[in-house]
Amino acid sequence: MEYRLSDRIKDLKGNAIREIFKLLQQPDFISFAGGFPTKELLPTEIVKEITTDIMNGKEAADVLQYGGTEGYMPFRKTACDYVKRYGIDGIDIDNVLIVSGGQQTIDLMCKAFVNKGDTVLVEDPTYLASLHILKTYEANAVGVKSGEDGLDLTDLEEKIKKYAPKMLYVVPTFSNPTGRTYSVEKRKAIAEITYKYNVMVLEDDPYSELRFEGERVPSLKSFEVGDNVVYSTSFSKTVAPGLRTGIAVGPKEVIRKLTIGKQAVDVHTSSLSQAILNEYIKRGYVDERLKVMIPVYREKKNAMIEAIKKYMPKEFKYTDPQGGLFIFGEFDKSLGIDCETLFPEICKYKVAYVSGVSFYADGSGRNTIRLNYSNATLEQIDDGIKRMGEFFKDIINNNK
Ligand code: PMP
Repeated sequence: MEYRLSDRIKDLKGNAIREIFKLLQQPDFISFAGGFPTKELLPTEIVKEITTDIMNGKEAADVLQYGGTEGYMPFRKTACDYVKRYGIDGIDIDNVLIVSGGQQTIDLMCKAFVNKGDTVLVEDPTYLASLHILKTYEANAVGVKSGEDGLDLTDLEEKIKKYAPKMLYVVPTFSNPTGRTYSVEKRKAIAEITYKYNVMVLEDDPYSELRFEGERVPSLKSFEVGDNVVYSTSFSKTVAPGLRTGIAVGPKEVIRKLTIGKQAVDVHTSSLSQAILNEYIKRGYVDERLKVMIPVYREKKNAMIEAIKKYMPKEFKYTDPQGGLFIFGEFDKSLGIDCETLFPEICKYKVAYVSGVSFYADGSGRNTIRLNYSNATLEQIDDGIKRMGEFFKDIINNNK
């Protein structure tokens, strides 16, 4: 059978990280590739306690029944209050859509705003799955230069003028892949520039709670000038990714369109997951558990930075994030190191990174890699970076 596939999926490659999962099944393999939370930190006992209470309560059958696409009503109300943590105030339930993870918000935003060929601006580098989603919608993804404290505003404005993009997609706090955070000034300026040029912004924020150093920064949405920012957060990194639940907050008109888009995809997010998270928040577990999680992530990040200093070649430059799950590193282009081509080779050493090429809209960044520190033990971090360091030192010496 010759399948007559759609243009949008025909040439689309699998998500690089999803593909790497297959390799990880080998014994002794150390992966710095995915973005999994530390398994031991997943709140199995709390979820067990809450689920039992829900099933013993009067809402038991309701959460097993079909629900509204907008979300489970008690949870939508809780969500309005919850997002005050991010400086988002003065909203009501019609500003909120409960989604099946932050990934779905990206998809629904594209579904609502992007026609084939429309330009969407992204940070260079950006979250790889956003590029995957943009390809699915046949968008023209264009990268905006970025530095220590966020997008390069001159480049942003120039690209807005040049491409008249429909949307800007950003991860302003502990970005995936760099771990960097935008300054307050940059957030304000981005809010102003995008409003001025009628560009919708999707602010994706799954990581801001995982801060192990420095001061909290309010969301970009909290600096919104007009109604052009949709804020997306998720419970995947703060509670458990398996619950597949997130919150999208935006102008009512936009939330309505996202809701219509969602009706066709999964009808609604699991009501049981929403009811569990509703109780999890109300019982004060979010902050209680973050107090336990953050020191673990801090220790792992520090261990990885130490291991990089100890084992990686001196030509390797890397970010040192104040939170989140990732370190991003690069080799000077003059060294001619192609981390994409080298990936199958390094896997023979039973250690994996994600090649940075997956995070660049224009397919550049072959000299870069992303490293995750949350899914490995401290011993594995030391051992894995050691293997990686030996591998890259050999490559550099052989290239000389
Ligand atoms: N956005 C970013 C920036 C992410 O890193 C991730 C997860 N890796 C997601 C969205 C999707 O997360 P989820 O759907 O589990 O909320």
